[in-house]
Amino acid sequence: MDIRTIGVVGAGQMGNGIAHVMALAGYEVRLSDVSQEALDKAITLIGRNLDRQVSREKISQDERDQALGRISVTLDIAAVGQTDLVIEAATEQETVKQKIFDSLAPHLLPNTILTSNTSSISITRLASRTDRPEKFLGFHFMNPVPLMQLVELIRGIATDKETYETCLGVVERLGKTAASAEDFPAFIVNRILVPMINEAVYTLYEGVGNVRSIDMAMKLGANHPMGPLELADFIGLDTCLAIMNVLHDGLADTKYRPCPLLTKYVEAGWLGRKTKRGFYDYRGDEPVPTR
Ligand code: NAD
Repeated sequence: MDIRTIGVVGAGQMGNGIAHVMALAGYEVRLSDVSQEALDKAITLIGRNLDRQVSREKISQDERDQALGRISVTLDIAAVGQTDLVIEAATEQETVKQKIFDSLAPHLLPNTILTSNTSSISITRLASRTDRPEKFLGFHFMNPVPLMQLVELIRGIATDKETYETCLGVVERLGKTAASAEDFPAFIVNRILVPMINEAVYTLYEGVGNVRSIDMAMKLGANHPMGPLELADFIGLDTCLAIMNVLHDGLADTKYRPCPLLTKYVEAGWLGRKTKRGFYDYRGDEPVPTR
């Protein structure tokens, strides 16, 4: 199937990155959110990130202008339904995602492919509530989208071959690489990565190390480019907690229990970089550990 227009639902850190790379690859993008503030922020951020690519000579000024010109923003979900491919990238809560697919339903074109950028939620379950489970796929980008090479593609039990291959074609047009994952809680990357982050939070909770020593230990001792707590702040602590809950509920194994300290940070609204406070405080010039 020929994909020309892409609807992105949710203009947070993932949605704006997805809109950015899609527009640069030549797709017409409609980006929507429930918050006008999120849309305004997303357009400013996309412009700034494209400028950075121009200054690094990755793209030309003309490519930058054309890409920005291909993105329109809207609060109206109906406009997003009238596209060839929808990528849902809203908050990691199943009820939020279900409501989005419910409200998209009356506005879809007959062949619109539906996808979700969920980090962990069952693709089969999300698909089963739509009128087209065979045209539903997990389309899981990594953060930050313009820089990360991988996209996980997750087939639900009903996903057909054409849908998978069409989305694979989109990944290739982006110049990215797809990894195919089966539809089990958190798929491949987050099944491995987020329990490691949760374990780092337990290490902090039990006083084995402080924020700086834990991050330094994993950077210098395991050659990770970012420490696990720094990475948690980057992903968003609400998203990390949501993924641990999906693993815990879906696999019914106590090894996935979310650390109470992670829950506490989320309850405080200290969600990491996006709220300027998490395991580090980002309100000053330099990040300062909060523990
Ligand atoms: P975020 O908090 O930055 O953004 C979520 C956005 O969704 C917000 O702008 C919010 O206003 C919007 N939203 C909420 N309800 C909505 C609705 N009903 N309709 C439209 N928009 C709505 O979150 P994020 O980090 O961009 O994560 C989005 C999705 O991407 C989640 O499913 C997450 O698991 C997944 N994901 C996140 C990462 C990461 O590192 N953060 C990586 C891969 C995938």
